[in-house]
Amino acid sequence: MKLLALSDEVVPFIYSGQIKERYADVDIVIGCGDLPYYYLEFVVSMLDVPLVYVHGNHDHRRQRMSNDRIATHAEGCIDIDGRVETVKGINFAGLGGSIRYRPDGTHQYTEGQMRRRMLRQAPMLLGQRLRAKPLDILATHSPPFGIHDGNDRAHTGFKSFLNYLDIFQPRLMLHGHIHLYREKAQPITQYKQTTIINIFPYRLISYDPHTGQFA
Ligand SMILES: [Zn+2]
Repeated sequence: MKLLALSDEVVPFIYSGQIKERYADVDIVIGCGDLPYYYLEFVVSMLDVPLVYVHGNHDHRRQRMSNDRIATHAEGCIDIDGRVETVKGINFAGLGGSIRYRPDGTHQYTEGQMRRRMLRQAPMLLGQRLRAKPLDILATHSPPFGIHDGNDRAHTGFKSFLNYLDIFQPRLMLHGHIHLYREKAQPITQYKQTTIINIFPYRLISYDPHTGQFA
């Protein structure tokens, strides 16, 4: 399966007619936050495949579209933020947002709030585990604490994500939020059973859900 993951930045060649030829064989698109709804809607309409997404700390709850429509979600896309969903046989969990760094910020969470969001997913994930179904992909906006994260408050990762990886052992964790050109960080880190990938601003991933192999 071909997965196209996006985050943080509108990439000109993706937001153009070129996307059709370039990504004709993509099966699922994954949005890892800080992406305007018009971009997600464009991608889903051009590729005509399922698009799952979570929110970033810069995503407004209500967005004005070019036709003056006020959008509260990306039309035709699957909001998996805080949820567990199976799409084309791949098990996804979504935990968008960043660490809280402003009292009034949207899609910002304290560690305690994020932990509660994780706990709400636990029954679904444990049910999948009982049926020997792995969690294929955890899609987040923020990285975990200490892995790919930054030194400033806004780019500090979640400690609770490490507990999540320990318990639910997703095969892949895809995140954004950390702009590689600025942080000069490495994009891929292995943490126990999980390969953590910073996909900023896009990455094409081949993934075999039967073996968990990816490239
Ligand atoms: Zn962000």
